[in-house]
Amino acid sequence: DPVRPWNFSAGPAVLAPEVLAQAQRELLDWRGTGASVMEVSHRGRDFMDMAEEAEQDLRTLMGIPDRYAVLFLQGGATQHFAQLAMNLAAPGDSADYVVTGHWSQKAVREAEPYVRTRVAASTEADGFRRVPSVIDVDPGAAYLHYTPNETIHGTEFHRIPESGDVPLVADMSSDILSRPLDVSRFGMIYAGAQKNIGPSGLVLLIIREDLLQRTGRPMADIFRYARHVERDSMLNTPNTWGWYLAGLTFKWIAAQGGLDVIGERNRAKAEALYAAIDGSGGFYRNDIDPDSRSRMNVPFRLHDEALNTLFLEESSQAGLLALKGHRALGGMRASIYNAMPMAGVKALIQFMRDFAQRHG
Ligand code: PMP
Repeated sequence: DPVRPWNFSAGPAVLAPEVLAQAQRELLDWRGTGASVMEVSHRGRDFMDMAEEAEQDLRTLMGIPDRYAVLFLQGGATQHFAQLAMNLAAPGDSADYVVTGHWSQKAVREAEPYVRTRVAASTEADGFRRVPSVIDVDPGAAYLHYTPNETIHGTEFHRIPESGDVPLVADMSSDILSRPLDVSRFGMIYAGAQKNIGPSGLVLLIIREDLLQRTGRPMADIFRYARHVERDSMLNTPNTWGWYLAGLTFKWIAAQGGLDVIGERNRAKAEALYAAIDGSGGFYRNDIDPDSRSRMNVPFRLHDEALNTLFLEESSQAGLLALKGHRALGGMRASIYNAMPMAGVKALIQFMRDFAQRHG
């Protein structure tokens, strides 16, 4: 097998090599159909079987209760920033938002044409360096939306916020399937696939069925979650390739031992990397409040920004890819999703130590 470099991309991100290898093996002839999964009807037996199995595997992995529908949609998480407001809020309703960084801000902005948004908590005044400890939930809100993991700022909630009877809606694009989760605490969970699931262009949506008939707002069928549920995510042609890759990834997670094992690995990986940053004598820095640090996206800065270019050049030569931080923040960011093993994190830590020694 070719040795691949360690890929720390924030998304689209590294996928498990076993998943890619299986997709490669099946590319020219999937299930004896004489075609790839991309070349057969989504209404044919083979695709329908695969699609159903992927959903069942996900339900088992996450322990999704029967009263929740699972959808495999399109449009990216960004489209659902707007679409969830159309579906969960009636005209004139107000909805609560927790603002913890770039993605939750965007979720507010995109919902604004459809619902009166209200900020129930914000950490902007603290430079988004932590998640809020108190959320002022309006009991009359149509829903409370939050972003459990801020991919750019590198913060993560390590507890599910209390929302009382207000349905809790979570954009889990960058932390879904990263550890066990009590799905019953949520009204709706959604996630763009391109971090822990598969290729971009697929959005996974888990929604409590009583929320499907909420608003009476006139809208085209294609926007209505209830219609997608009625038609098993095949109201129109789904992202067949994405669905298939997601299914392979669910089986891969199960083969690793499920979310308990994955969660423990992710905890250990993040702990090792933060320890290396904190123990670097100030050469590297992460300013996020330790209780709010993300296990998925680890932003860090070099003490001397003039070394950034050299760090990126040398790390890439050492087989460590995509460490450049998001343009909004600068610095570095190592994304260490499920498919990044501890060996990759150790290679990064070793490189960081060597680099600091040579340039300290
Ligand atoms: N939410 C979060 C937390 C993200 O990380 C991203 C993408 N990185 C998005 C939303 C936007 O996803 P998409 O590009 O699929 O619309």
